[in-house]
Amino acid sequence: SIDSSDLFGPIEPPPAVRTVSVLVPMPAPRPYSYSVPEGMAVEPGSVVQVPLGPRQVIGAVWEGGDEGVDPKKLRPITKVFDCPPLSKEMRDFVDWVAGYTLSPPGLVARMALRVPNAFDPEPMVEGLRFVGGEPERMTPARARVLDAAGDELSWTRIGLAHAAGVSTSVVDGLIAQGIFETIFLPPPPIVAKPDPDFAPSRLAGPQKEAADEILEEVRNGQFAVSLIDGVTGSGKTEVYFEAIAETLKRGKQVLILLPEIALTASFLERFQDRFGAKPAEWHSDLAPKTREKVWRQAVTGEVRVVAGARSALFLPFEDLGLIIVDEEHDPAYKQEDRVYYNARDMAVVRARIGDFPLVLVSATPSVESQVNGQSGRYTTIHLPTRFGDAALPDLHLVDMRRHAPERGGFLSPVLLRAIGKTVEKQQQALLFLNRRGYAPLTLCRVCGHRFQCPQCSSWLVEHRFKRQLQCHQCGYHQHTPEACPECGTFDHLVACGPGVERIAEEVERHFPEARTIVLSSDIMGGVKRLRLELDAIAKGEADIVIGTQLVAKGHNFPLMTLVGIIDADLGLANGDPRAAERTFQLLSQVTGRAGRTGLKSHGLLQTYQPQHPVMQAIVSGDAGAFYEREIAERERAILPPFGRLASIIVSAETRQDAEGHARGMRNAAPQVTGISVLGPAEAPLALVRGRHRFRLLVHGRRNSDMQAYLRTMLAQSPKERGSIHVQLDIDPQSF
Ligand code: ADP
Ligand code: ZN
Repeated sequence: SIDSSDLFGPIEPPPAVRTVSVLVPMPAPRPYSYSVPEGMAVEPGSVVQVPLGPRQVIGAVWEGGDEGVDPKKLRPITKVFDCPPLSKEMRDFVDWVAGYTLSPPGLVARMALRVPNAFDPEPMVEGLRFVGGEPERMTPARARVLDAAGDELSWTRIGLAHAAGVSTSVVDGLIAQGIFETIFLPPPPIVAKPDPDFAPSRLAGPQKEAADEILEEVRNGQFAVSLIDGVTGSGKTEVYFEAIAETLKRGKQVLILLPEIALTASFLERFQDRFGAKPAEWHSDLAPKTREKVWRQAVTGEVRVVAGARSALFLPFEDLGLIIVDEEHDPAYKQEDRVYYNARDMAVVRARIGDFPLVLVSATPSVESQVNGQSGRYTTIHLPTRFGDAALPDLHLVDMRRHAPERGGFLSPVLLRAIGKTVEKQQQALLFLNRRGYAPLTLCRVCGHRFQCPQCSSWLVEHRFKRQLQCHQCGYHQHTPEACPECGTFDHLVACGPGVERIAEEVERHFPEARTIVLSSDIMGGVKRLRLELDAIAKGEADIVIGTQLVAKGHNFPLMTLVGIIDADLGLANGDPRAAERTFQLLSQVTGRAGRTGLKSHGLLQTYQPQHPVMQAIVSGDAGAFYEREIAERERAILPPFGRLASIIVSAETRQDAEGHARGMRNAAPQVTGISVLGPAEAPLALVRGRHRFRLLVHGRRNSDMQAYLRTMLAQSPKERGSIHVQLDIDPQSF
């Protein structure tokens, strides 16, 4: 019989076909609409699979797609992944970055989602649980297994057999008798959980006050930016470790951004000494499986601390509560590929949207951050001296006009003598030259022919070890010829100028007994080998290190007491208003490698411009005066951060197309007070990979709405056709 209440109870309406917007990881200007099949549960942020043309792609349910589309005409979502949805915070961040950089939101979302296979939960792992009871027949082997199992709750079959020193068949026997039962366990975490109390905090003197200020922000748990401005070796890392500990105690996740994460094995170990576990790493050298795991566990909250390169900023953390940007001035934070963004600046936005504190760290903060400190927007914390009995190196300029190297050499007699003394004392010398290879230019002594890249406006760099001429722009390379391709004369090609390989040759000539190591990104064996070499240097297994900026970043070499800068002027010549700042930062960082452990240390900077403000600032140690001048100069010229800049690079297969299109864009630019468009002019790299490049610079006053202006300008510009491509770069690195 029928219960009458069934007949007269409320009738559920049939489920309406719903539509949602999905942002797909493509250069899509906005989310697309899809229908949700009956019975499928999605919410904003859900990670889904949807059809796109003939393909299936991964996307995220988003706000703000097309309105009023008839759901019946839409294609349905194929699948919802069993994965926590991207938070509102993360979605807002993606939209904000897209709006600021004028990039399609889909391309920005792609940075958060492009980790294939990470979206399904990891499979459970089979394990064992001790149930209790006694086996029917006790044998010594069985006793050992029961002994080994102890109070531990879960074992794998093999793990338990191994621990007991028996074969797995003994364990299987106990399973068969119900002494152990098979259970399923969550997959092991990729890293153990860091413990904020693993090692006691050990701050001394000014570090304490510095940490107190930051800890107050961390306890407030609201958006605030602190800038730790402290000389190399002052204990900045030690200070921000306390901020990390406090954040962990508050149950939040932490992101540490580092410019050269692949090379900072020593950083990971130091972290482990303090927190008992390493942070999870995030960078492009990770194996795909590891990548998937880190992504997944950052999203589920399993991973508490990630140390990563700039792209880690787009990890959809479950509950991020602090970002540290170490070496905040470093140009490596700028991505110039697809989405052009500066991770340092976007980290500020991420923290603002998430309403949590951010700590910027540098021995030589960017002009931008200093100005924000002066205006009170950031809280600056100074650590002016090195920790303990370590002193900064004594720095001297070597005027190369008076201390000429011997013919064909690049090392002045002064520097050679200093190297000799250092090696004698069994200490280490670092020779820094920011140029890979053997020589930056090769020419024919007979006809004057210079080897140039066939597809770029750059000279071919000789790599003698590989017997190649290489283009550092596009990777083009050829075997080093014996005859000039122009005049055919044999054996008259000359190498002009030095690269690290050539300095190594000179060093070996003078110090044949010394153990030398050359470090640049050309090293055979890649990152693994680099890590080994850095380790070897730290252990004192080298006397003389010759390196590019790879050796400049963050390493701690206890025996290093001499730093020689081969060509201190190298970065100054390119006519970029940021050149002085960059050179100052790089030289400070490199010389900062010396004297980290209390041994007396020196730095010698070979220069042809000893009067240059950068050189004077370096040797006097008066960074303040140098920055003041830089800041005043920027303010006078209304350059960032006192004005706003965007660069538009127009490239095409022919020069005419590139220039013509750039001109067309310029003509289409709206007239707005406070904003002007400069150019077009040949871009600093006028030819790259066979594409001709012209540049427009858009300059605006500080309060001008650059994005709105550019959107109008782009909308009014001629359409890109044929090989023409337009690339926008907001806040360009060089200008
Ligand atoms: P920075 O990050 O400013 O370069 P570090 O934090 O690396 O400086 O500190 C420099 C050196 O001094 C490191 O070897 C570090 O272990 C040591 N150090 C810094 N602060 C302390 C401290 N309070 N107690 C003991 N050692 C310290
Ligand atoms: Zn090239």
